[in-house]
Amino acid sequence: WTEGSVTDAENSLTELAALAETAGSQVLEGLIQRRTRPDPATYIGRGKVDDLGAVVLSTGADTVICDGELSPSQLRNLEQRTKVKVVDRTALILDIFAQHAKSKEGKAQVELAQLEYLLPRLRGWGETLSRQTGGSGRGGGAGGGVGVRGPGETKLETDRRRIRHRISRLRREIKSMRTVRVTKRARRTRNSVPAVAIAGYTNAGKSSLLNRLTGAGVLVENALFATLDPTTRKATASDGRLYTLSDTVGFVRHLPHQIVEAFRSTLEEVAEADLVVHVVDGTHPDPEEQVRAVHEVLAEVGADRLPELLVVNKTDAADEDTLLRLKRLWPDAIFVSAHSGQGVEGLRAAIEDRLPQPAVEVRAVLP
Ligand code: GDP
Repeated sequence: WTEGSVTDAENSLTELAALAETAGSQVLEGLIQRRTRPDPATYIGRGKVDDLGAVVLSTGADTVICDGELSPSQLRNLEQRTKVKVVDRTALILDIFAQHAKSKEGKAQVELAQLEYLLPRLRGWGETLSRQTGGSGRGGGAGGGVGVRGPGETKLETDRRRIRHRISRLRREIKSMRTVRVTKRARRTRNSVPAVAIAGYTNAGKSSLLNRLTGAGVLVENALFATLDPTTRKATASDGRLYTLSDTVGFVRHLPHQIVEAFRSTLEEVAEADLVVHVVDGTHPDPEEQVRAVHEVLAEVGADRLPELLVVNKTDAADEDTLLRLKRLWPDAIFVSAHSGQGVEGLRAAIEDRLPQPAVEVRAVLP
């Protein structure tokens, strides 16, 4: 369902389809319903559930993915009515994060977020518990099976207890890993090396730009969420000053709050930066919406007061009219193409220009 315009809903659904494909699903069909609010019992309206059931039957789909967060009972009701597995946007995003997390800390953060999402939904999910916590989770369609019902009460209670234990253990682990990172950061602050954080919507080209700016071999994927663990590279300004450039986690609309919570410490690192380079995809149908989504997350971790340099990327592929419109909209933005390298030197200069100046010792020379 959508409360906004149908175009917004279509953009969001296109992105959801891309997310589902990133998670390994094959997307068969999209369905949009315009309503003022979701149906408390079934999310989409009851009549629309029948349409959905018909689509499931005719396409042979084994999973329905909803573009929003479903309450545990909405999820259960929809599964009962459609007879297939139902996944919401949050579960899908959590699944992709799980597939892409590489560092120990990243993995622990995702597992924590998944378990917190899972706990209140345990009854309807049944066997998915082992699937979700086994590390091999590939949601968004694969596995799970049709009509999997919850385990018996006793088993359910044991499962819940085990999950709660695991959650507290993960919290402790993440806390101690965080201490290590804070110590490293303190060292950096002591040496007063300025830090530049590259933020931006997922797939905007953050990793590509980091590669361009520093020659680092960072994985670039045409998939949402290629970047999860922050990568930090050293860079040298033309005047010889050192600074660091970090690629941050990908942002996405309606980032599940569990993810924001779990990645808070990683995201907070952005808040410690001296400058945020905010990369926007110039070829996206709605770049303003992406910018808004990123600002929302930055505000949540207190990084919204930092100096920001807006960078419109992919000028090689964007159309002229869009670029002109964006230039009028954001007169201070820098336009680049990480692919062709166009504008990258200008960007480097703009970054260096905005680095905090080193404390200069001023001595009065008396005659
Ligand atoms: P990230 O998720 O923001 O780190 O984005 P990536 O750097 O992984 O890039 C996402 C996709 O956009 C990849 O397919 C890149 O090849 C593509 N991409 C990045 N920069 C450019 C660019 O300047 N022009 C074009 N046409 N594509 C780009």
